[in-house]
Amino acid sequence: MRLIDTHAHLQGAEFNRDLEPVLARAVKAGVQLIINVGYDLNSSKRAIQLYRKYSMLPPAVGIHPHDAKAWSDEVESSLRRWAGSPHVVAIGEIGLDFYKDYSPRAQQLQVLEKQLQIALDYRLPVILHVRNAYMDILNVLKNFPSLRGVMHAFSNT
Ligand SMILES: [Zn+2]
Repeated sequence: MRLIDTHAHLQGAEFNRDLEPVLARAVKAGVQLIINVGYDLNSSKRAIQLYRKYSMLPPAVGIHPHDAKAWSDEVESSLRRWAGSPHVVAIGEIGLDFYKDYSPRAQQLQVLEKQLQIALDYRLPVILHVRNAYMDILNVLKNFPSLRGVMHAFSNT
């Protein structure tokens, strides 16, 4: 069996000590690739750096809705630069989180749309994080009919 894990965050400091044994166990279990998903600028950058050492960890880059408040032109240009690299496999994780509301909703929507446009521009799939915002995200996604991707932690009907 060939398995691909589409969502992990192995760039976190909690894996600094034992990343190699974690990867070895994944390989032994038949996992060929683990998409290492960014959630802010640092974790996206670190995912790209880790890929240079571990080719089984293709990176995704994006700003999580919790961090939408940190959006800036500089963040956008970094994401666009990385999205243009042949190794980046997706834009994510991005989305809406109206459960925790760590960033203002209007800003979450704005940052989501900007990142969906980056995905379209670079023909990349998206990794969506959505909580308590299902109708809201459907309203946004209908404006991007050609996008492909996965909905992560989906708990609606
Ligand atoms: Zn995640």
